[in-house]
Amino acid sequence: MCLVEDEATGRIMASCVTPAASGMSVLTHSPRILNHRRNIVRLMMAEHPESCIVCNKGNRCELRKIAAELGVGESGLYPMPNPIPFEQINPFITRDLTKCILCGKCIRADHDLVVTGAIEYNNRGFRSRPATLHEKPLEDSICTFCGTCVSICPTGALSAKNTRYAGTPERETDSICGFCGAGCSLTIGTAGGAPGQSVVDVNPSKRKVSVNGATLCMRGHFAGDFLNTSDRLIRPLVRNPDPFSRETHLPADWDAALTLVATRLSDVRRTYGPEGLAFIGSSKCSNEENYLFQKIARDIIGTSHVMSAGWGFGQRLLARIDEKTLGSVRVSPLSDLENAEVIVAVNADPENTVPVAGYHIKRAVRKGANLIAVDAARSDLARRATFWVQPGLAGTAVVLQSLARALVAKDHYQGQFVAQFCSGFEEFSESLTNSPKNPAASVLHSSVQAAADLINGKTVAFAMPANLLDFSDGEETLNAILNLCFLTGCLKPKSSGLYVLNTENNLAGALDMGTAPNFLPGRVKITDAESRGMDMGELVSAMETGRIKAAYVMGENLLRCLPQQDRVAAALKNLEFLVVQDIVRNRTTEMADVILPGAAVYEKNGSFTNMEGRIQTFSPAASPPGEARPDWEILGQLVRAMGYPEQYQSIEKIRKEIRQAVPMYQGLGNHYQEWVRNRETGNPFICGDARFSFFPPSGLKTPSPDPAYPMLAHIAPVRYHLGSGTRTSRSERIRAWGQAGEVELPTAAFQSLGGNGSGKVRVTSRFGSIERTFRENRNLPEDQVIIPMGVNGNDAANLADLTGGWTLAWVCVEKIG
Ligand code: SF4
Ligand code: SF4
Ligand code: SF4
Repeated sequence: MCLVEDEATGRIMASCVTPAASGMSVLTHSPRILNHRRNIVRLMMAEHPESCIVCNKGNRCELRKIAAELGVGESGLYPMPNPIPFEQINPFITRDLTKCILCGKCIRADHDLVVTGAIEYNNRGFRSRPATLHEKPLEDSICTFCGTCVSICPTGALSAKNTRYAGTPERETDSICGFCGAGCSLTIGTAGGAPGQSVVDVNPSKRKVSVNGATLCMRGHFAGDFLNTSDRLIRPLVRNPDPFSRETHLPADWDAALTLVATRLSDVRRTYGPEGLAFIGSSKCSNEENYLFQKIARDIIGTSHVMSAGWGFGQRLLARIDEKTLGSVRVSPLSDLENAEVIVAVNADPENTVPVAGYHIKRAVRKGANLIAVDAARSDLARRATFWVQPGLAGTAVVLQSLARALVAKDHYQGQFVAQFCSGFEEFSESLTNSPKNPAASVLHSSVQAAADLINGKTVAFAMPANLLDFSDGEETLNAILNLCFLTGCLKPKSSGLYVLNTENNLAGALDMGTAPNFLPGRVKITDAESRGMDMGELVSAMETGRIKAAYVMGENLLRCLPQQDRVAAALKNLEFLVVQDIVRNRTTEMADVILPGAAVYEKNGSFTNMEGRIQTFSPAASPPGEARPDWEILGQLVRAMGYPEQYQSIEKIRKEIRQAVPMYQGLGNHYQEWVRNRETGNPFICGDARFSFFPPSGLKTPSPDPAYPMLAHIAPVRYHLGSGTRTSRSERIRAWGQAGEVELPTAAFQSLGGNGSGKVRVTSRFGSIERTFRENRNLPEDQVIIPMGVNGNDAANLADLTGGWTLAWVCVEKIG
């Protein structure tokens, strides 16, 4: 279709593969060319089924558009339909290759954009088609169901399951994915009335500036149907005073519910003082909602107990980085990853946490970047790495310290950056030389030396998971990564940088807004111990002892995401008053005295700040169900019910206050996108006069297992669930996918349990136990297991320590039949 004609020679050429040459005069719409194009379209139509009338692609079909533009009404050729059966088994993608025009776009998307390699052309000529290896169904291939090929397919050959006959969207609205911290731009297609009641399509947005370009991942593309779950809360509910009734809660109107909340919160405050109340917000809610939430807590109620469950899922790490670098490391555009010549991925598994960050890393590797994966398990990245360094007994921090030692010893560090921006290099260098060598690290000596040679003089990027501090050597590992950032100068603008793979969409924004126990808006650290709020473990203890009497929970299902859920449930039961504001019924709402129904991300306006520090605003694509309202609106009305009538009646009023209170957000709401500004320079990308201090190794600790619980369990995110899975487990498609969340055991442990994977295992920690089916993972070290999060009500969380890291636990594993 891209044929053009060289005017001088009359030669017909495919423009997509012909380089322009001096003196060439190209005709793009000559009668001859148009005639050729018409013939090609006729051939395509001869092979195409006559199902346009029911095809979901409808008016968006590019074949139809081009045929209309060229004035081709019908093929005029003998029909030659290509009978290929529909592939219908998986719950995400329908492939009807009878409509395939062999444009190859899906293959290029799969290879060049998401770098998976699941599909390729199979066969030749009339039988040619895009297919998996051996033409297996997609679910039996390495396809990740990212849906990028579906969005890019110009015809109805590839479509999203369940929306296949839902009709052409009547309205398209750009929004931001509400799952992970990449903050991908989406276009939501809705049908059924203004502003749109039913989401019929989700695609990458066509905005010129976005994190994700033409890609999405399985969650962003397909899990948005959780909005339609029958568990949605559609009206305010208050606890039924009749304890013998089957209905635990009764409907209430908004005024009555909010008045009750305002009155009861004031009563508790009056009786027990402001410190008797706790406010637990969410890094899934918007910046505006988090700002207003902490404002009500701190300024109206006067309590210091402001918390977000995101604190245990990565906010703690962001706060530590902020403290350690004095706020100078804030922004690293994901696109810069592709300019990196070396990427060091430490315990990073973007495939399952932030897939779009994984695409950037894989594209960089495809372009020639060297990847150094430091990881106990052989993740997808480790498989693609130039070097996979498995720390083993030495521990990750020790491996990274060895790398720093090698860089300094070989003079492979960026002396100019160190001299200009860093302090404490001499002491650091001395401490590296003098620190005792860990014998376990000696086996890695050659890999570390080779990695240091790779890094020499190159632009380097570092990627780490949001749960880094959960590891027993997490703090030491963070110090080691920061030291490497200083040594490689990667914090300079356009030098790749430091990437924390935030698993929750607004981890950074919620911290910026002050929904954290020891930070005020603008990441102003609360240094006075008296004014600091309690963390989650302390809060639960305070509920148990009766020190906390009332709690307001916004956007978090605590009884699914927190460890030790029975303990948390008992603590919540001990409260005199509990308000829960959420979008779906769940175990936590069941315990509430008042339930306030919120709107989901595609049903409201607001802004999120992604893992790069990119603030992105969004508008509603659909209306909230029933009487549900955006969380910011509920909070604004609560402020009014508390006696401040005109304060926060519009989102613009909240944004105006954020712009004043949080200088880093001075551009919030003025544009679709803004960047969080550097505190010192005001510029998001320049570290200005920052002085980074090196962190000498504090001691070479290795994890010491409790003999009763000898294995380290990674309670790990999976591709098809986001975190604890409160939302994704309500997606019809994800439910249909039906993954069992099998415990993954290393080969030795697998074989000692019979070696055939039949039956179940019981995994027990000091805090709880779970039972699941299991399978072998040959890439795991012998003392580690992986337990997928999000499935089975996220029961795996119960293995972890509420007062420690929430994603790691020491466990023992036994076969139970
Ligand atoms: S993008 Fe669609 S039409 Fe093009 S080759 Fe792939 S399946 Fe066929
Ligand atoms: S869904 Fe994604 S991974 Fe699967 S074939 Fe399409 S582009 Fe490749
Ligand atoms: S990478 Fe994250 S933000 Fe992007 S589509 Fe997937 S879940 Fe959504």
